[in-house]
Amino acid sequence: MSIVAPCYNEAECLREFHRRAAAAARASCGESFEIVLVDDGSRDATWSIIEALAEADPHVVGVRLMRNHGHQLAASAGLSLARGDRVMLIDADLQDPPELLAPMMARMDAGADVVFGQRGVRHAETWFKKASASAFYRLLSNLAAVPIPRDTGDFRLMRRRVVDALVSMPERQRFIRGLVSWIGGRQEALVYERQARHAGTSKYPLRKMIRFAVDAITGFSIGPLRVATYLGLFAAGLALLLLAYTLWQWAAGDTVAGWSSVMTAIVLFGAVQLIVLGIQGEYVGRLFQEAKARPLFLIDRVVTAGNERALPAE
Ligand code: UDP
Ligand code: MG
Repeated sequence: MSIVAPCYNEAECLREFHRRAAAAARASCGESFEIVLVDDGSRDATWSIIEALAEADPHVVGVRLMRNHGHQLAASAGLSLARGDRVMLIDADLQDPPELLAPMMARMDAGADVVFGQRGVRHAETWFKKASASAFYRLLSNLAAVPIPRDTGDFRLMRRRVVDALVSMPERQRFIRGLVSWIGGRQEALVYERQARHAGTSKYPLRKMIRFAVDAITGFSIGPLRVATYLGLFAAGLALLLLAYTLWQWAAGDTVAGWSSVMTAIVLFGAVQLIVLGIQGEYVGRLFQEAKARPLFLIDRVVTAGNERALPAE
């Protein structure tokens, strides 16, 4: 069994995370487990703590990425290195309790391929975070072609074949919970209470949240392109009405007035065209990103006192 945790500036959380994760893993799997800690280009003491943990505990595999790649790619890097027959993906800040491993394992023993944590109560999160998250999940579940369960994060236990499928997906616009939904199989929710962070602050500022949301929506739906079409149709209808009005004014010989209506039309259609172009640009830009086919992440080094594994060349 593997536990994979992406860590970005989590120095204050790591030791406690390691203690609780190792205890939970030991309770469920005896000694056959590993904890893969991925340092996503942190600028605090995260890496030196991971190195110390890896030295002291052969269950720990420390992975350092070449730079900050973001949560979803750091998680993907960890998943690609995990060796377990089952893999738990979890945040390092202890907002998701590692102790849920036991009930997740029980569900998997009963046949589930994926057991994902679904957030019931969220402790100590701002009203803005809760409101924006709730709006986002509702919008996404209406747009996406595959059902993506509401109020879930990436906290989940997955079977090896699901992890292999996930790792084999080449796309860089990684919205892991959506990709896992796409894989299918028997997926079950486990409702839990999302805790407050053990220490430190959220590493998801508004900018990253928006980018994450746009990635999720464009990765799983071409709905917005359709919205562009509807907007265009709506604008065309409006334009016809305006045309009729203009002709009528002209017929009535009243052609001098009209500055306001011309301005309105210019501004309105200009805006609609820019919106439509922008939406198309989001998709074209993503095609460009994918077409370059760069590696998703680069691993700087891997440290472990446990089993040898394929290390990136120096
Ligand atoms: N994280 C990461 N890279 C980033 C941002 C976050 O690896 O660029 C990790 C972070 O260390 C944590 C997890 O992703 O383990 C979730 O981030 P965070 O707790 O800040 O997000 P929130 O829970 O506030 O949504
Ligand atoms: Mg968190």
